[in-house]
Amino acid sequence: MGSTVTLNDIDITVIGGGVGGLACAIALRHHGAAVTVLEQAEAITEVGAGVQVSPNGLRVIEALGLADALAATSVQGQAVSLRNGATGAEVARLDLRSLPSDQRYFFVHRADLVDLLSSTARDMGVTIRLLQQVDTVTTGPTPRVVMATGDHRTTDLVIGADGIHSSVRPVLNAPTKPFFTGQVAWRSIVPNVTGHPPQARVHMGPGRHMVTYPLRDGTKLNVVAVEERSDWASESWSQTDDGDALRRAFAGFDAEVHQILSQVERPGLWGLFRHPVAQHWYGQNCAILGDAAHPTLPFLAQGANMALEDAWVLADALASANDLQAGLAAYQTRRKARVTRVIDVASQNARNYHLKPGPFRFAAHTALGMLSRHAPGRMLGRFDWLYGHDVTRQH
Ligand SMILES: Cc1cc2nc3c(=O)[nH]c(=O)nc-3n(C[C@H](O)[C@H](O)[C@H](O)COP(=O)(O)OP(=O)(O)OC[C@H]3O[C@@H](n4cnc5c(N)ncnc54)[C@H](O)[C@@H]3O)c2cc1C
Repeated sequence: MGSTVTLNDIDITVIGGGVGGLACAIALRHHGAAVTVLEQAEAITEVGAGVQVSPNGLRVIEALGLADALAATSVQGQAVSLRNGATGAEVARLDLRSLPSDQRYFFVHRADLVDLLSSTARDMGVTIRLLQQVDTVTTGPTPRVVMATGDHRTTDLVIGADGIHSSVRPVLNAPTKPFFTGQVAWRSIVPNVTGHPPQARVHMGPGRHMVTYPLRDGTKLNVVAVEERSDWASESWSQTDDGDALRRAFAGFDAEVHQILSQVERPGLWGLFRHPVAQHWYGQNCAILGDAAHPTLPFLAQGANMALEDAWVLADALASANDLQAGLAAYQTRRKARVTRVIDVASQNARNYHLKPGPFRFAAHTALGMLSRHAPGRMLGRFDWLYGHDVTRQH
């Protein structure tokens, strides 16, 4: 890691032991900082769900020295296949094998990714304190972090990596109101009974779509199914639903989808909300990253990848600056435009996947199909800005 300034002797408190917080803790530790992670849960665990680590996120994993370990527990994705949900016919294909050889795409069990990050952090000397629910943060030359228990700590720099319901974002920003997108997502991991190949399949239908991809040694399948609806579901995975509700929503889909969904028991259910990107990502000796700064709809599979990119850039910007405030300002400058673009594209994708049958869908699918069959390079080239971006080489 090419640092110009060491962060030795700087005490940094990271709130949140998710993908973003742990990756940031490791990156900061590489630069010599003394890092403590405060996590509200009683263990560093993750809901049973998959995550797609795309080449841009993998750059960070590689720079942290963890790519081989991640590859050992992941499935390397070979394609993204967009399919007509009713017939199962492929509409278009993104051939991931045609990416430059240094750009790999992995399907990962979230628990494996978080385990890898947390064990690495601990081995490097990061202190991870569990059952530490942060209640309030006060910024200033010596920020103060107060726990729900009333305990408190002071620190040199506090980083809010505490996800969608961040306790730090409102300290830096005026309150904003997320709005319900009119979409809910079910999530489940099921046995791979269909022999699903190592690709992400997007089964598209009017007002709904389902994404499937294999995990671990290919024996499991990650399922995320999205439906447009008017009634509200809470923004939390603690809510579950009846598997039959999910099966009913996808009754008009093809046999493969039916077979996959027949394995689902009690899926998690999540209301998808759009949040504005935070205006201020830092204050005095304080910053936010990942979902705390910019919750991301899942339609481009980039939320965790953006959290990884943020984590790297924040540590690098701090280590490259003459003082903390200059580093924090550089972090926001280096990240905000890219993240905003990713979030905008993810939001548009929902509409594209859910087109209703008719001339517009016919035209869109035909154009995509022709592009992917006759100009596969151009199809992949449309994602260069996303997957080809390497935050570890930009300063
Ligand atoms: C359906 C769906 C599918 C997705 N698929 C993908 C995908 O394929 N690829 C991808 O890149 N992204 C995906 N995402 C997005 C991704 O899950 C998130 O963007 C990512 O987890 C954000 O990481 P984070 O570290 O910022 O926050 P989180 O992962 O939410 O971690 C926050 C941590 O902070 C802790 N915490 C919260 N509040 C406090 C507090 N007050 N005190 C102490 N600790 C606290 C939490 O317990 C948690 O451990 C998906 C999201 C959804 C909804």
